[in-house]
Amino acid sequence: MFLMGNGKTTDPYSPCTLCPRRCGADRTNGRTGFCKATSAVTVNLSMIHRGEEPVLGGEGGCGAVFFEGCSLRCIFCQNHGITSPTGKGTVYNENGLAELFLKLKSDGAGAIDLVTPMHFAPTVANAVRLAKDSGLGIPVICNCSGYESASTLKLFDGLIDVYLPDVKYFSSKVSAKYASAPDYFPTAALALDEMFRQVGSVKLDDSGKVLTRGMIVRHMMLPGNLFDSKHIVDYLASRFGNNVYISLMSQYTPMPHILEDEKAPAELRRTLSKENYERLCDHLAGLGQTNAFVQETTSQGTLMLPDFKL
Ligand code: SF4
Repeated sequence: MFLMGNGKTTDPYSPCTLCPRRCGADRTNGRTGFCKATSAVTVNLSMIHRGEEPVLGGEGGCGAVFFEGCSLRCIFCQNHGITSPTGKGTVYNENGLAELFLKLKSDGAGAIDLVTPMHFAPTVANAVRLAKDSGLGIPVICNCSGYESASTLKLFDGLIDVYLPDVKYFSSKVSAKYASAPDYFPTAALALDEMFRQVGSVKLDDSGKVLTRGMIVRHMMLPGNLFDSKHIVDYLASRFGNNVYISLMSQYTPMPHILEDEKAPAELRRTLSKENYERLCDHLAGLGQTNAFVQETTSQGTLMLPDFKL
């Protein structure tokens, strides 16, 4: 419950308008919204994760906290095992979450990596505040889908050090087809502006190897969508340029639920063309973007995917 200016209390989870879906669901008493999440903040997995971009977490890696549920729910989800509630996650209140962040630090993590936290933003923001007040002292990363409400992002103002959003789609036709979100791109564009307002241009530590503040914007290229990807890269380079890192990901893998679904779009049932990925990387380089990460196309398959044993 949150106290409002008029002395009344309000619950941010009922009716819930935390994400751009603004579905207004009552998430109390075990009920869920489009994101399939109740108000119980559920962590599927927490671990030291060394697979993020090399400037994140330093030698200790990232203390990743994977939250269950997602407000975007792309049909090809690469983390399908955690985007739907599994019944096996652990529920935390804000004090417990803060302790988890501090424990990951004591285990050696060089950063805390909040993975898909936005549908739990009020609780997670309070937990980050508590952990920072208790001396967390390492960067906190917000790893999210890009489909975020600017007003909800403001809950994290002054608390997040590094934003790590995806930009997944440019065309409204594509985002409607793959995520039932025709408003994806304009919504993500506003969200990115708010993130950049909060953290500003990228800053590395004294070693020059570890990102302490700023943004890395990820785009995972999808098979059959080269033109959509080029539009995204053009936008990011012209809007932010080398004030942010752009991370182009080649690891798209058709997951079993897509391969088993005969109605799934044919292009999503295959892996990414190496040639198209290289064309996109060349296109980005041609725009003068030097703050960039690219992957080997051999990262397709399960090699680079976290192994979520459920
Ligand atoms: S966070 Fe979930 S319940 Fe809240 S508006 Fe978005 S989809 Fe609906």
